[in-house]
Amino acid sequence: MKIGIFGGTFNPPHAGHVEAAGQAVKALGLDRLLIIPDAAPPHKEIADGSPDAAARLSMAKLAFADIKHCRVSEMEIARGGRSYTVDTLRRVREKYPRDKLFLLMGTDMLLCFEEWREFREILDMATLAVFTRREGESEVIERAAARLRQRYDASVKTVGIHAIDVSSTFIRAELTQRRGEDLLPDGVYGEIIRHRWYGAKPSFPWLRKKAYAMLDPKRIAHVQGCEEEAARLARRWGADEEKAREAGILHDITKKEKLDEQLRLCEKYGIILDEMERTEGKLLHSKTGAGIAKYEFGCDDEIYGAIFWHTTGKENMGLLEKVIYMADYIEPNRDFDGVEQLRHLAYTDLDKALEMGFRMSIEDMRSRGIVPHARTLGALEWIRKGQVG
Ligand code: ATP
Repeated sequence: MKIGIFGGTFNPPHAGHVEAAGQAVKALGLDRLLIIPDAAPPHKEIADGSPDAAARLSMAKLAFADIKHCRVSEMEIARGGRSYTVDTLRRVREKYPRDKLFLLMGTDMLLCFEEWREFREILDMATLAVFTRREGESEVIERAAARLRQRYDASVKTVGIHAIDVSSTFIRAELTQRRGEDLLPDGVYGEIIRHRWYGAKPSFPWLRKKAYAMLDPKRIAHVQGCEEEAARLARRWGADEEKAREAGILHDITKKEKLDEQLRLCEKYGIILDEMERTEGKLLHSKTGAGIAKYEFGCDDEIYGAIFWHTTGKENMGLLEKVIYMADYIEPNRDFDGVEQLRHLAYTDLDKALEMGFRMSIEDMRSRGIVPHARTLGALEWIRKGQVG
C-alpha cells in the first residue's frame, strides 16, 4: 500500500489543507492518507485563545470526512507532549512494515526540514511529498529538494497542486471580523461558530442562510424586516447593532415547529415551562429559538434574552430585549391599525412605545378570546410604573 501522512496543527483545518490532501491522494495514488493533528507542534506555540486538542481533532474529522482514503488519527494527541514526526513515523512504520510511506508537507515545512528532530531517520522511513502553498513556489521546492537528495540521498517528490493561498493564522484573524467562512469547510465553520472558538463571530450572510433554511419561506421577509428594524433601533438607542442583527436574524427560527417538537427542544435546552406554555406552541418558539441561538449558533446571554422574551416581554427588560420586542412589532412588513403611531414612538420614546405595544397585544388577545400571558401583564405594569416614577 502507498500510505500518506499529513501532520499539522490544523488550528483550524482549512480549505488549503483539504484541497492539498485531496489532490495529493490523487497525484501520489495513495491507498490511505493519515491526517495527524499534533498535540503540541515542535516549531511554534499554539495561538492564545485556541480550542483544545480534542476540538482540533473533531474539526479535522469534519474537514476531511469527504476526502477519499483519508483517516484522521488521534495518535499524536493521545501521545501528548510535543509531537515529533520521527516518533509518529516509527509508530506508523511498525504498523505498516512493508508499505511505502509518503510524508506530506507544504513548502514552509520543507525549507526548515533539516531542523526537524532526527530528520535523517525520517528520510530513511519516508519519501517527502511536497506541495506548493502559493503560485510560483515550485522553483524554491526544487532547489531545496535537490539539496536534500544530494546531501542525504533523500527521496523527495514534488506534488503539483493548485494551492489555495491561506493559513490558519490568517483565518483566525478573519473569524473575529465575521469573515472566513469561504475558507473553511462548512461543518468546521459551523462548529467554530457554535463554540465561538477563536473569538469568532458569524458572518451575517452565513447566519441568514442558515436561519432562512429553517423558516417557512413566507416568513423570510418578516425576518429580514425585523433584522433591519432592530439594527436601526439599536443605532437610535445605543444598543449593540451587531447583536441586534444576530437576534433579529434568529428570533423566529423555530416558529414553524409543532408543539411536540417545541417541547422536545425545551427538554433538550433545559427550558422550564409554566402551565400555559406547556399547551400553547406559539409561546414556545421564542424560548426554543433562544435555545438554538445559544447552543447551536453560540449567541451570548444578551442575545439569548432578547430572543427568549420577544413574544411575551417581561418585567425589567434590558435594552436589547426592548429593541427586539419592538423591531418584531413594527418592522416594515407589519400592517395594523396604530402601527404608524407605534413606529413614531419607537424612535422618540422607546418605553412609551413598549407600553403601547404591550397594551395593544393584550387587547388583541382578549378580543380573540385568548388569555394574555401573565408576563405580558407584568411587563405592562412594570413599564407603566417606570414612566410614572
Ligand atoms: P498556522 O497559520 O497556524 O501556522 P497553517 O495554515 O500553516 O497554520 P498547519 O496546520 O501548521 O497550517 O499546516 C499543516 C501542514 O499543511 C503543513 O505541512 C503546511 O505546510 C500545510 N499547509 C498549510 N496551509 C496550506 C495551504 N494553504 N496549502 C497547502 N498546504 C498547506
